[in-house]
Amino acid sequence: DNPALTPQRQPEDPDAALRPKSLTEFVGQEAARENLRVFIEAARGRGEAMDHVLFFGPPGLGKTTLAQIVAREMGVGFRATSGPVIGKTGDLAALLTNLEPHDVLFIDEIHRLNPVVEEVLYPAMEDRALDLIIGEGPSARSVRIDLPPFTLIGATTRQGLLTTPLRDRFGIPVRLNFYTVEELERVVTRGAGKLGVAIEPAGAREIARRARGTPRVAGRLLRRVRDFAHVAGDGVVTAEVADKALTRLEVDSLGLDAMDRRYLTMIADTYKGGPVGVETLAAGLAEPRDTVEDVIEPFLIQLGLVARTARGRCLNDGGWKHLGMAPPSGTQA
Ligand code: ADP
Repeated sequence: DNPALTPQRQPEDPDAALRPKSLTEFVGQEAARENLRVFIEAARGRGEAMDHVLFFGPPGLGKTTLAQIVAREMGVGFRATSGPVIGKTGDLAALLTNLEPHDVLFIDEIHRLNPVVEEVLYPAMEDRALDLIIGEGPSARSVRIDLPPFTLIGATTRQGLLTTPLRDRFGIPVRLNFYTVEELERVVTRGAGKLGVAIEPAGAREIARRARGTPRVAGRLLRRVRDFAHVAGDGVVTAEVADKALTRLEVDSLGLDAMDRRYLTMIADTYKGGPVGVETLAAGLAEPRDTVEDVIEPFLIQLGLVARTARGRCLNDGGWKHLGMAPPSGTQA
């Protein structure tokens, strides 16, 4: 499969170079930005750490970027880690006890925390205290360590992936949505400025239309198209150059990649348009169920190509049309 479009982070992504540094510079997500602005100002006004924040939404929409912006606008330090990296309670204890007052601790993929570690996080978030067991057997004893006030910012793809006790401890839940083409056009234009790419407005629009609603994908496509523009032309990204490069990358007119099309084709061909269970689709695609639900499906559902029903996934009219196929007669799409 062609990895050019996956919204998940890849090592060669120009993420750091393209990151907006302030809420003002951050494109789109109006509701989330306004909310955060209020909470940041209130916390600053009181001279306190901001309440804990949970960002949820598909990969590549700006969760890490917003967490960094919160720290910057609060004028505090930023530490980042991720759920699967914190293997033991001691790892978490080390992170927490090294924070300066009001610091932001960012935990990406927080739904993947080891349950034992997660238990330690509860009192840390609620009472700013660590309850640690020292020693083993009959001589084991529990000690409580006070922590500096801090802000935990968690990121996850779906709010529902968190356990209820963890979810309840976030005072500020923030949902991130797919971006509109207009917003992505601004992301691309801004990115071109940062990367020194000559681009025409129509070129930016073509990339934006095919970026799967996702700034990370937009940044990556911009780089690929720029490379193509240098090899195939005079280096200027026009609509025509963008279209050629994206077609060569097998990004279709809606911005779908090979995996998206395999998903749609499987429902259409193998399951006659559905309904078909997500487990069955995941097995057929040889992808983890989480990837299907959190990475592949949200955008296809947003586009109205697929519907999630109680009995399984079904292809909508738009899905059949995009595949250039007709629904089997006798079924309602
Ligand atoms: P996530 O943590 O949700 O996976 P990131 O915060 O790492 O996503 O963002 C991925 C890339 O997209 C980064 O290069 C980031 O700079 C860019 N990006 C995300 N949101 C925006 C935005 N609103 N405006 C401009 N660039 C953005």
